[in-house]
Amino acid sequence: MIELKDSVTRINMPLVKLENAGKNYITGEISTPALKEINLSIEAGKFISFVGPSGSGKTTLLNLIGCLDRPTSGRVFVAGAEVSAMDRKTSAKFRGENIGFIFQNFNLIPVLTVYENVEYPLIMVQNVQPEERRRRVTEMLDKVGMAEQAHKYPAQLSGGQKQRVAVARALAPRPRLVLADEPTANLDHATAYKVIGLMHAMKKEFDTTFIFATHDQKIVGEAELIYTIEDGLITETRENAAAGGKK
Ligand code: ADP
Ligand code: MG
Repeated sequence: MIELKDSVTRINMPLVKLENAGKNYITGEISTPALKEINLSIEAGKFISFVGPSGSGKTTLLNLIGCLDRPTSGRVFVAGAEVSAMDRKTSAKFRGENIGFIFQNFNLIPVLTVYENVEYPLIMVQNVQPEERRRRVTEMLDKVGMAEQAHKYPAQLSGGQKQRVAVARALAPRPRLVLADEPTANLDHATAYKVIGLMHAMKKEFDTTFIFATHDQKIVGEAELIYTIEDGLITETRENAAAGGKK
């Protein structure tokens, strides 16, 4: 991972790069062109939003960047590595070392406590030693304001609290990139703003690149760069100078 980081800095490649990336889902006889010819370069340290109606291709795009899926045409690079060419085992390892995920349904593990949920990727994927693990879990829970709930189980938390834990879990392994797919869809508006604000604060503190997808135009105010996705195409790119300004 450190070698990769060094080489990336040397060749000065954007953190995420898509070259004519397209995705057709084939189901039986039916081909669904979910993404058409996406060209995109995202620099490290940005807070980015993909916004667009349901079915426009946002999740497909995040899945390609997160190497959960491969494009049917074109190429996808993350941190200088061509993730679209990786086999499953290589991409799983790459994901574990470089990418954190935050989901609409939080995806916390119900039989684990808040603390154990955040600790889990550090044991399973990153093999971080116990003392460092304890330090990181405690630090992250503190940052997201969940330290006092560390012993609780997901079922005992509100939606906003669950998503705070998911943010802590995504960040604990110190990924360079965090992908959040409709992270606020199951939250009320006030809570949604808070969670987005929290992600923005985390981005500033850890210099992590955040990319989130949403169909809700109202909550993209924290994003520095907003891509509108419609019908599998990027139809607008907008910079938002006011990002992070409002609380
Ligand atoms: P969004 O996240 O913006 O709602 P998606 O990326 O999920 O959009 O979907 C884009 C298009 O691809 C939609 O038409 C959707 O029905 C289709 N699609 C998504 N996933 C699959 C799949 N696994 N198989 C077939 N079609 C899919
Ligand atoms: Mg989606």
